[in-house]
Amino acid sequence: MNNQHIAIIGAGTAGLAAAIVLARQGHHITIFEYVEQLAPVGAGLLLQPAGLAVFAHLGVLEHALTLGAKVTGLEGQLPSGELLVDSHYHEAGPGLYGLGIHRATLCHVLVHALKTEPFQQKVTWRMGVDLEKIEDRGVEARLYGHDKAGKFDAAFDLIVVANGARSQLRPADWVVLDRPYPWGAAWTIVPECLALDKQILHQFYHGASVMMGILPTGAIPDAPNQRLSSIFWSLPSSQLAGWMRKQGEREAWLADVDKCWPIAAQWLETVIEHPEQWFAANYRDVVMRRFGQGRIAVIGDAAHAMSPQLGQGANMALLDAWALGQAMGVSGEPDWSAVWQKYHTLRASSTHFYQWLSRQLTPLYQSDSRFAGWGRDFAFTWMYRIPYVRKEMAVTISGLKTGMFRGMKVADVERR
Ligand SMILES: Cc1cc2nc3c(=O)[nH]c(=O)nc-3n(C[C@H](O)[C@H](O)[C@H](O)COP(=O)(O)OP(=O)(O)OC[C@H]3O[C@@H](n4cnc5c(N)ncnc54)[C@H](O)[C@@H]3O)c2cc1C
Repeated sequence: MNNQHIAIIGAGTAGLAAAIVLARQGHHITIFEYVEQLAPVGAGLLLQPAGLAVFAHLGVLEHALTLGAKVTGLEGQLPSGELLVDSHYHEAGPGLYGLGIHRATLCHVLVHALKTEPFQQKVTWRMGVDLEKIEDRGVEARLYGHDKAGKFDAAFDLIVVANGARSQLRPADWVVLDRPYPWGAAWTIVPECLALDKQILHQFYHGASVMMGILPTGAIPDAPNQRLSSIFWSLPSSQLAGWMRKQGEREAWLADVDKCWPIAAQWLETVIEHPEQWFAANYRDVVMRRFGQGRIAVIGDAAHAMSPQLGQGANMALLDAWALGQAMGVSGEPDWSAVWQKYHTLRASSTHFYQWLSRQLTPLYQSDSRFAGWGRDFAFTWMYRIPYVRKEMAVTISGLKTGMFRGMKVADVERR
């Protein structure tokens, strides 16, 4: 496509990855970001093989591997010690793996690529900007916002909205559902857990109301030699603000964990010291009837926020950026309806599948229902004995599904 002037709103996973893809095609990119400086903050997350294929496509995989932590699978333990979930990436395909990585590291790797040649000349950064409104005027797309200097507006050929789950910029008439989940998670980052296998995402479940995750997440860019783990403790959203703030709560919590998983409790005792170590994460469920039309696109969490039960959010943000590049990578004058038709062909069914599955599974792990936990333990124990189901679960976690019975190949995404 002829070179376009493109505004990307939000410098998170989706926005930064889209900037690389589109700048590489020769477009002029302006990134608008709310914060003044991208700070080294945020939970650790697990990039799945599909997301890592996008990293290879973007040329940042090698850099990410030096900082992140390779993860070979997911093991979810019940109090009996039995593994309810025992899924390994090699079951989805030879050579596949995940990467535990901090959000800060993920953004650092993408920003580093954008600030080096050949992208440098193509990308303009506008930090500390709050965008309030966008408009598709047919011949141009216009955005309105303010920064320290005051109010401003500007015109572009295309506006890509990538400003996260709480976006107020996604066109209201594209939104089918936008609601918070009743449960979230407290999370913290601690020195790497050596008491458990360092290449596994460990989860612990007791009924549907208790879930803990311990994820190896490698290093942050400021301290590349200090390897870290991220801990997630599931809680109803209403309890997140006060978590660990009461006298004696830490000891009571450790005693509860010790009853079910003594190895984890002994390690936690040494790394969890202060209540201010914990941060709160809330989730949203956002469903849209379309992701692009005319001169506006919506990608990442702004387009399809979901619970992190399947660990797909950042992964899907990266796939969105890849698909945008595929849809825009045609020569000549832009034909926006053809662009969105191709984009929806690549992204709609996969996005809807993962959102649907995430919505079905989340109450089995995060709710007060006794039946949900009991039913899950019974059903999953049997399901894992069927080789076909085991493989399909590994493919699902890998982010490679495009529907219940369809999938995509890593090699097709990696290719430039
Ligand atoms: C606890 C937790 C665990 C998770 N675990 C995983 C996991 O294991 N695997 C996985 O793939 N995903 C996981 N996720 C999800 C993942 O973090 C998100 O899906 C992903 O980061 C979304 O990226 P994004 O770029 O769409 O949005 P964001 O990362 O939210 O970025 C949006 C950006 O837009 C900026 N912005 C907002 N409003 C404006 C405005 N008005 N003007 C200008 N800029 C603005 C923000 O400052 C921000 O920088 C997890 C999420 C949580 C909460």
